[in-house]
Amino acid sequence: MPSPEARRPRRLKNPMRIPLIAANWKMHKNPAGTTSFFQSFLPLVETTVHCDIVICPSFLDIENALAATRGTRIRIGAQNLYWETEGAFTGEISGPMIKAAGCSYVIVGHSERRRYFGETDAGVLKKTVAALHAGLTPIVCVGERQEKNAPATLAAQFQGGVAGLSNEQFAEIVIGYEPVWAIGDGETATPEVAAGAHECIRAQAKARFGAAAAHQLRILYGGSVKPDNAGKLLAQPEIDGFLVGGASLDPVSFAELVNFETPAQAGRAS
Ligand code: PEP
Repeated sequence: MPSPEARRPRRLKNPMRIPLIAANWKMHKNPAGTTSFFQSFLPLVETTVHCDIVICPSFLDIENALAATRGTRIRIGAQNLYWETEGAFTGEISGPMIKAAGCSYVIVGHSERRRYFGETDAGVLKKTVAALHAGLTPIVCVGERQEKNAPATLAAQFQGGVAGLSNEQFAEIVIGYEPVWAIGDGETATPEVAAGAHECIRAQAKARFGAAAAHQLRILYGGSVKPDNAGKLLAQPEIDGFLVGGASLDPVSFAELVNFETPAQAGRAS
């Protein structure tokens, strides 16, 4: 049983870490499906103010997502970018293009990009810098393949993919901790395991960028998050929100995740 101190949501300690709930739709939906998602989703989150909401559809659905969310608090992101700004790079899309389309965020270094498309920590760093230059907020993903390798993998990914940023650049990023063994197959990291990994990432951040920068860093958890396990995860002071795959495709379940508040948050808002 965690102590009352451990259970106290860190938002009360650091109001700069506003919770962020982000959807990664991966290679799902089409423009019509995107429009219909928002028809159901928007009324369910109309009054939600306690967290930031980001939806990352496929490139082809960004236009419809932006049209559907105009005038709302919801922000739209891309799932990937290339680090060059323009040129002979067939099939690629740059940060300035994503920004010009109207996006605010971009996911960088997702484990599926690392696994199926050979992305490396060095490439993740280049993409992160390119996203920042374009005025996008990168959600930089890290995560181990096997639970026992977490500390070493997280340290290596941080050193290779994040430590090369300047202090100013680091202040603008969000990190997504996604243990590969927990993505998509229904196995969720326990709140304690997830919080331990977040602590490990924050320790890396503190060593490289200092205590204040580490304290302000938002670290999202991702890996089979669903309405029935979200509460215990979000109650961990180290967990600043979620990056959600499968459960973000359904407007009702994603709205449940977005609207989840710890009792202390709800108390603070009232
Ligand atoms: C993801 O791939 O970013 C993810 C967290 O997927 P899921 O929620 O389906 O595990």
